[in-house]
Amino acid sequence: MTIQTASIKFNEQGTPIATEFDDVYFSNDNGLAETQYVFIDGNQLASQWQNTNATYFCIGETGFGTGLNFLLSAKRFLEFQAQNPSSTLERLFFLSTEKYPLNPDDLELALRLWPELNTEATELLNAYPSLLPGFHRLSLFNGSVILDLFLGDATEGFSAAHSYEQGRVDAWFLDGFAPSKNNSMWQPALFNAIARLSRPNASFATFTAAGAVKRGLQEYGFDVRKQKGFGRKREMLVGHFIANSTDTKQAPIFYRHTLLDTNKAGQHIGVVGAGIAGAITALKLIQRGHKVTLYCADDAIAKGASGNDQGGFYPQLNAEAGNASLVHAHSFLYARRFYDDLLNSGHHFAHQWCGVLQLAFNDNVTSRYQNMIRNNTWPTSLVHKLNAKEASEVAGVEIPYQSLFLPLGGWISPPELVHSCVNACITAAAKDTFSVKTDFRLDSYDTDPQTLQLHFSNGRSECVDALVLACGAQSPQFEHLSLPFRLTRGQVESIPSKNEFSNLATVLCHKGYMTPAMKGFHAMGSTYVKNELNTQYRVSEAEINLAMHQKAMHAAKWSDALTLNQQTSPGRAALRCSLPDHLPAVGALPNFDLQQDELNELYKAKPDSYYPIPSVKKNVFMLTALGSRGLTTAPLAAEVLVNQMMGEPLPMDNTLLNVLNPNRFLIRDLIRRR
Ligand code: SAM
Repeated sequence: MTIQTASIKFNEQGTPIATEFDDVYFSNDNGLAETQYVFIDGNQLASQWQNTNATYFCIGETGFGTGLNFLLSAKRFLEFQAQNPSSTLERLFFLSTEKYPLNPDDLELALRLWPELNTEATELLNAYPSLLPGFHRLSLFNGSVILDLFLGDATEGFSAAHSYEQGRVDAWFLDGFAPSKNNSMWQPALFNAIARLSRPNASFATFTAAGAVKRGLQEYGFDVRKQKGFGRKREMLVGHFIANSTDTKQAPIFYRHTLLDTNKAGQHIGVVGAGIAGAITALKLIQRGHKVTLYCADDAIAKGASGNDQGGFYPQLNAEAGNASLVHAHSFLYARRFYDDLLNSGHHFAHQWCGVLQLAFNDNVTSRYQNMIRNNTWPTSLVHKLNAKEASEVAGVEIPYQSLFLPLGGWISPPELVHSCVNACITAAAKDTFSVKTDFRLDSYDTDPQTLQLHFSNGRSECVDALVLACGAQSPQFEHLSLPFRLTRGQVESIPSKNEFSNLATVLCHKGYMTPAMKGFHAMGSTYVKNELNTQYRVSEAEINLAMHQKAMHAAKWSDALTLNQQTSPGRAALRCSLPDHLPAVGALPNFDLQQDELNELYKAKPDSYYPIPSVKKNVFMLTALGSRGLTTAPLAAEVLVNQMMGEPLPMDNTLLNVLNPNRFLIRDLIRRR
């Protein structure tokens, strides 16, 4: 699972060279001018941007390298927006792949060559991700430029990327070392994957004029022309995708439906549920210019599972990088960037990026952690091992176990986060386009051809164009959601800080978890009581929580000082909603009855079988079942959902998108013919 970083040196002209390929990252003559000439002008981006009436434009690139092509494109796009305020283009998506990423120090050195790109380079360097294989979504320049950086092989990335039927990419930058030095990349499989993602008439440009590249592109549907190359280079290639591709762009059984009319600006979207999932979704919808009403069943926001004072922020990583762990790892990295952006834009919520220690507190856990480290399953910037002494230094209290440390994690106050997202909605919304309605518990809704009618238990009804159900523990009440939801009661204690452990400086996880103090109290949790709907605080469960922590930490003297203080601060119980695979449900609400018929031959599982696009409930979407993991999974899940609704490029690969699809349980049952 590990990524090999590039080994670079600089030649006499100061140009970076990849030692393994013995090739330059860009021209010795002038890399910046080469990027402008070959890729930006070769694709005629200025005129494509002038002549579109789309809301976004997507560039695809084969080798990200130093990011020079990306940074100059971002700069040109921002200039275009400033000079053309009436353009419909709101966003530039840039999908790039990199098999051998530069480490951050080398990237910084390489980008110093371009003082004119200083501002853009700083944004990239600040957001540059941990070197975890797969797609990383970086939102830059206030969301005007979105970089989807796939770390791994270009063909693999383009084959795994999501695409709607009409394709994803408007213009291709076919960069990468010369075919003579990097033959394995310039293969038919790459051109096939590029064709799959191309929109009708997508343009391409490449510095090379190699015959194999020309023939490969022609074979997969591109019209190819030669033109004068940059500087001393005689020729380069440009052209367009002219094939009328009938190729299926993704498995239709997991088809991702958009809003019925993605071009209709300012649609009114009702988001039901004012917890972490609903508030983040509302913010992303507001940022795209929609009118949003956030409906809250309680008398105030963040009163459900998002109401605990402090929550640990970390991914659930296994020794093997399976789909669930990958969803967690990528969600976590995205969430950290999302929270930092929120904080940097002036919205406050109590939190500490103090890292999270996962203690090897028994033999089973120790051997699991050892496997993870031995297999190099995850990059060290995400998780690494500490011995007991090192762990104690990080924790500020005695830790009697070797541990895993997740330096990017920490804790967050979920209710403050929800309030902060709502404040960000208020700041970002145009006049009268955002409201929160409390004491609006959704009872039912019905659809007519134009609108959705929502009916609330306070007797009121409201009309919206689209609906997002982000209602956590309320989800099972809607029978038609037909998912195997599980409700679990969880109680967390709020324990008074004492000298013996008041120095706790990082989140501790064993069977339970304990956070550093906020306002003199530590969160210590949690119980998991299945199918229990009561949320009254219970002394009996408090004792279970205390005993669990004292048992796990018995070898540390400070654990004797852990006590409950139910009079002043009794802690809190809430319900979490989850699904059997512990992953959220993110996407359009399936029409389960129709899908049952449409896909009833799935058990025959012929790979080339044709299935119709499965039916969904018109303009109804869901983001629920985040369990106790909403702080980690909600931001990327909300990004997926909002991108899907708008018909924008999605930030995850098809495999991970499919494991989040609300119809996954139905599909599994149909395959097994249950
Ligand atoms: N576009 C880059 C820039 O703006 O700095 C320069 C690209 S450099 C000429 C070629 C890049 O392609 C290198 O970073 C290299 O590691 C990457 N590369 C080579 N083979 C690859 C493959 N099979 N998949 C993805 N990236 C690859």
